[in-house]
Amino acid sequence: MFVVFRCRRCGRFLYAKRNAKSRMCVCGFKNDLRKVIIVAKAEDEKTAGEIVRRLQGAGTNFKSLG
Ligand SMILES: [Zn+2]
Repeated sequence: MFVVFRCRRCGRFLYAKRNAKSRMCVCGFKNDLRKVIIVAKAEDEKTAGEIVRRLQGAGTNFKSLG
């Protein structure tokens, strides 16, 4: 099981294994998975990646925390 969440510093969508403790974002922020808000769950890494892509939308143009 994978979880999809937003980086607490830059707002990017990321995914990690459900049982992971933390996930380093490309911005350098180490997200504590016990503190992030889970926006989606996926059965496998491929699906998690697709969800992230969909949520990220324009990708490189993404910058707002909403
Ligand atoms: Zn980040």
